Amino acid sequence: MSSKEGNAPYDIKGKVTLVGAGPGAPDLITLRGQLALVKADVIIYDDLANAELLTVCRADAVKIYVGKRAGRHYMPQEEIGAILVREALPGRKVVRLKGGDPLVFGRGGEEAELLTKAGIDFEIVPGVTAASAAGAMAGIPLTQRGVASAVVFVTGHECRDKSPEAEVDWAALARTRATLCIYMGARRLSAIAAALIQGGLSGDTPMAVVTNASLANEAVSVGVLDDAELLASAAVGQPALIIVGEVVRLREILAEAREGSFQSADRL
Ligand code: SAH
Repeated sequence: MSSKEGNAPYDIKGKVTLVGAGPGAPDLITLRGQLALVKADVIIYDDLANAELLTVCRADAVKIYVGKRAGRHYMPQEEIGAILVREALPGRKVVRLKGGDPLVFGRGGEEAELLTKAGIDFEIVPGVTAASAAGAMAGIPLTQRGVASAVVFVTGHECRDKSPEAEVDWAALARTRATLCIYMGARRLSAIAAALIQGGLSGDTPMAVVTNASLANEAVSVGVLDDAELLASAAVGQPALIIVGEVVRLREILAEAREGSFQSADRL
């Protein structure tokens, strides 16, 4: 290494890289995300990122935890933003590691906005979002010619301070016949299923609940909208991705073709 390269500990200008960590399995991060981790001076992470990912970074990298167990229920988003700015300003390479994809229900947009306001350079590295992982792991194609030509990522968790425009119109979604990938929906699954049925979907519409997709304790429960209560009980307290739509039926065909090579166990 030339002395020129060896002397400066940091870039003159700091930068934040918002990295999608993927759904949980440590080898489902992108190569670009992993390279950003390897180069980082500071890593800011929370619960959804697999702790194993932190083992690839430099031994002297500073790791800052900003998740739910950080002494309180939630670290307010403004506080996380302030930490990102504080760490990047002196010229450090900061990685903000986020579960799945940073821009899918990950508040990555808000963090990027904050960084823009603070004049800090940032980059976004996409990640495998939970819907993609759940589909792949459960053997359910999210779209399929002749079955579903649209897919919707929707949150089942209604946030209290949400504006009326941001509220989910389940009846409208029911009419699209798109595959619905519901994030954070396990707790409200019965109400969501009722709203979808009210909106015109049949109670026989197939539904899958995929918990801990890509992790060793991954599980898939399959049923129909009418089984919502039972299906939701399988997901209590775990990250769960709910897939609603005719594509769920294709799982059996695909699973058969692969001769039961799926690791997931059916509960129903
Ligand atoms: N940015 C993330 C989503 C964060 S919201 C992404 O792109 O995936 C958190 C929700 O994502 C969880 O409540 C759950 O609905 C879903 N989720 C995240 N990881 C998951 C996993 N391994 N298996 C199933 N669902 C998961």
